[in-house]
Amino acid sequence: MSKNFSALNMAEQQIANLDEQLLRRKLRITESPCNIKANVGQRELKAFCSNDYLGLANHPKLVSAIAEGANLYGVGSGASHLISGHSIAHDLLEKKLAAFESKHIPDARALFFSTGYLANMSAITGLARLAGQGEASIYSAKLNHASLIDGVRLASAQTKAKVTLFDHQDLHSLEEALGHDAHPLKLIVIDGVFSMDGDIAPIGKLIQMAEQYDALLLVDDAHGFGVLGKQGHGILEQSQVHSERIIYVGTLGKAAGVSGAFICAPAPFIEWLIQKSRPYIYSTATPPAIAHTLLTSLELIENDEGIRRRQQLNELIQIWNEEMTFSNWEQVSSSTPIQPVILGSNANALAAAKLLDEAGYWIPAIRPPTVPVGSSRLRITFSANHSIDDLRELIKILKIIEQKIESEVGA
Ligand SMILES: *Cc1c(COP(=O)(O)O)cnc(C)c1O
Repeated sequence: MSKNFSALNMAEQQIANLDEQLLRRKLRITESPCNIKANVGQRELKAFCSNDYLGLANHPKLVSAIAEGANLYGVGSGASHLISGHSIAHDLLEKKLAAFESKHIPDARALFFSTGYLANMSAITGLARLAGQGEASIYSAKLNHASLIDGVRLASAQTKAKVTLFDHQDLHSLEEALGHDAHPLKLIVIDGVFSMDGDIAPIGKLIQMAEQYDALLLVDDAHGFGVLGKQGHGILEQSQVHSERIIYVGTLGKAAGVSGAFICAPAPFIEWLIQKSRPYIYSTATPPAIAHTLLTSLELIENDEGIRRRQQLNELIQIWNEEMTFSNWEQVSSSTPIQPVILGSNANALAAAKLLDEAGYWIPAIRPPTVPVGSSRLRITFSANHSIDDLRELIKILKIIEQKIESEVGA
C-alpha cells in the first residue's frame, strides 16, 4: 500500500486503537441455519445469542413457504413500492399486520419495510416532517436502540427538531419537560423491550402522558413482537393499551424468524409516510417471497404453536430467574428472553465469552457503544427450542466461569 494514502493510514490507525481498547469486533461465520446449535469453524456450539426467540428461523413450514413464495413471485421485487415493486404479497402482509394491532390502535394501517433500521428512520424523520422547521420536539429514551437514535439525529438535522433525552425508569423529568413544551408536534420515542437489558417500557404511563400533553408515542417493539401477549401481538397486547397516539414498530427478523419490519399507526400517519418518507420511497421493495413467507410466520405466532412456544420461553425465563444467582456479577431483572449479565470491564466480558466458547457455548461479549461504558456484558437470550436441560447446563457452566474469572481478578 502506498505510504502517503492518508485515508488508508487513518483506517489502520483507527482499527489499531479499537484493538488496544478491546473494542474490536469480529465476524464469525456460521455454517448452519440459525438455531440453538450453530456450526462455527467446524465446531458445533450451543447458541444462546440469537433473537430467534420462538425458534422459527429454520421452521419447516417457513422453509416451504419461502420456496412457494419464490415460485409464485420470483426472487426480486424489481423496484421501490411506489414505482412497481408493491406486490399483492406485500398488501396481504400489511393487512394482516394491521389486524394484529387493530385492537390497540384505532383505524390501524401497516407499512412493511425491509429492515427495522429503515422503519425507524422512516417513522421518526417522516413524523417530524408533519410540522414545520423547528416545530417538532422529540423525546428519546437514553438506552434506545441505535436505529432510533440515528432516526432522531437525522430528523433533527432535517427539521431542526428539538431533542431531549430521558431516563425510561424515571419519567418525572419527561413529564416535567412535556408540561412546558410549546412545540406544535411532540414525539416520544422508546424501545418496547430494551434490547440489551430486557426490561419492558412503562407503556401505560407513557400513553397517559402522550394523551395529557398532546404527543405521539413511537414504540419500537423489536423484541416484544411475537414474544409478548397471549397471541404474540407484542407489548400493546400484553399491556392492554389502546390509543390513537401510538406509532408501533415491529420487526420480523427476530421472533418472526424471517426478515423485515413494519410500522402500524392510524391510517393518516401511514398515508403521510407513503407520500413523504424518503427511507420508504427511495428503497427497493423487499422480495415479495419474503412477504409471502411472513404470512405463514404470523399464523404460527398467533396460533397454538406460537402459544406453546411462548409458554416454553416463559418457563425458561422463570427457571433462570429462580436458579441463576451470581456471587459478584450483576443481573438485570428481566421477564423477557433477554437476560444480560453485567461484568463491567471489556476485559472481563471478553474473558467470560472466551471461556464459554471453550466450553462449547456461543454467547458474545457486548461492549460499548452498544452498551454504556463500564457495563460490558454477556447478553444471554433464550429460544423456545431450548430445553429446560439446556438451560440448567448453561447455569452450571456460568457459575463455574464466574468463579474462575473472579478468582483470577482477585489473585
Ligand atoms: C434489531 C433492532 C432493530 C433493527 O431491526 P432490523 O430489522 O434488524 O434492522 C430496531 N430496534 C431494535 C430495538 C432492535 O433490537
